[in-house]
Amino acid sequence: MTNKAIARIIVVSIILILHLQSKVQNERAYTLDYAFGVDFVSILLALSFGKKPAILRAMDMDLKNKTLKELEELVMGFGGKKYLARYIFSFIHSQDAVEIENISPLSKDFRQKLIEAGYYISTMGLVEKFVDPDGTVKFLFELGDGVRIETVLMVTGAPQSRKTLCISCQGGCRMGCAFCATGKLKYKRNLTAGEIVGQVNYVAADCGAVNNVVYMGMGEPMDNYDEVMRSIEMINHHAGKNIGQRHITISTCGVIEGIDRFGDEKLQVHLAISLHSSRDQVRSKIMAVAGKYPLRELLCSIKGYQKKTKRRVMFEYCMIKGLNDSDSDAKALVTLLKGLNANVNLIEYNPHDGCEFQPSSRNRIQSFLDILMTNGVETTVRYKRGQTIKAACGQLGATWIDKCD
Ligand code: SF4
Repeated sequence: MTNKAIARIIVVSIILILHLQSKVQNERAYTLDYAFGVDFVSILLALSFGKKPAILRAMDMDLKNKTLKELEELVMGFGGKKYLARYIFSFIHSQDAVEIENISPLSKDFRQKLIEAGYYISTMGLVEKFVDPDGTVKFLFELGDGVRIETVLMVTGAPQSRKTLCISCQGGCRMGCAFCATGKLKYKRNLTAGEIVGQVNYVAADCGAVNNVVYMGMGEPMDNYDEVMRSIEMINHHAGKNIGQRHITISTCGVIEGIDRFGDEKLQVHLAISLHSSRDQVRSKIMAVAGKYPLRELLCSIKGYQKKTKRRVMFEYCMIKGLNDSDSDAKALVTLLKGLNANVNLIEYNPHDGCEFQPSSRNRIQSFLDILMTNGVETTVRYKRGQTIKAACGQLGATWIDKCD
C-alpha cells in the first residue's frame, strides 16, 4: 500500500469518527453534513479515492445548474464564442428548453459536442398537483435521484393578479423545528441551484409568470447557502425569469453565520427570520437551533445585517395556542424588536397529523396584533391557506412523511 493510500485511509477514518460523534451528540441538527451540505461522508469517501460521486457528476453536467458566467466559461472551453452562452441560458430559463437539441441558435455541431460530452438539461418530474378551493396550488416533484420536494403557488388579489411561489431548497430539513412537518422528514440532501430554479421555471410554464419568490418551502436556505445564492442570481437575471430582487425573500430559522454572510452580498433580496417566540426558553422547545443561536446573539447578527444593508427585516411568528400567544408574549416581542427596522408577520398555526400543537384562536391573534400595533410594531396576519391540500406554512411533506421515512 502506498503512503498516499495510507494517508487517505487515516483522513477518512478521522472524519468518520468525528461524524459519528457529532451524530451521537445531536441526532438531528449539527452534524458535519450541516457544515458541508450534501451527504458529506459519501462524498468524502468518493473524493478520497479519486472518484466524483454520481450526485456531483450530475450537478456538473446539468446546464440548468449553471449561471450565465459559468455557461460562458463552458462555451469558450468548447471553442465557441462567449455570446452563445446567453442563448443557452435564455432558452433554458426563459423559453423552457428541455433538450439541448432545442437550443436552435447553436450550430448542430456545437449542440452535438455538448451532448457527446454528457451535458443535459434537468427536468422536474411532477408526481402530483393539488389544487385548494382557495386557489393555492401545491406541486409534488420527484428529482432525478428520487428525492421528493414540494412547491406552493399562492394566488392573491384580483383574479390571478399576484402569484407568489414558495420554493424548497433542500430535500427534508436538518433543523428539526417541532411545529413543522418538513422537520420530521429525514434529511436527504441540498438541492442544486438548477433544481431550485427548476421549480420557478416549471410553475411559470404551467400557471403563468410568477411575481414573487419566497424561500420558505422545505429546507433552511442558510444551510444550502451557496446554491441558494446561485439560484437567486439565475432567477433574477434578465435573460431568464427576470424576477426583481425586491420580489424575492429568503427566510431563515436564525442561522447566524448565514445572516452575517447574507449581509455582505449587497443584494436587495428581503430577509425574513422565523422567530416564533421572544423567549429563549420557549423558542428552544420548538426550534432545535435556538440552543445554538440564542436570541441575544441572533439579535446582534440582525443588527449587524441592518447596519450593513439598511434593510428592513421581517419576523415570522407562528401563533401556537398556550405556548407563545399571551399578552405578555406580545409585550416581550415589542421589547425585543425595539430599535430594529422590522415588521412582524403573525401566522395562524397549521397543525398536521402527529403534531402536539394547536393554533391560537382568532380572538387571541387579534389581541396579540392589537398590542403590537398600539406599540408601533407594523404587523400583518397570514391566515391559513391551502389547508385542504396541506400546502400551508409548516405542512410541506405532511402528506407523505409515512410513505418516505
Ligand atoms: S420550519 Fe423551516 S427550518 Fe424549521 S424544520 Fe421546517 S423547513 Fe426546516
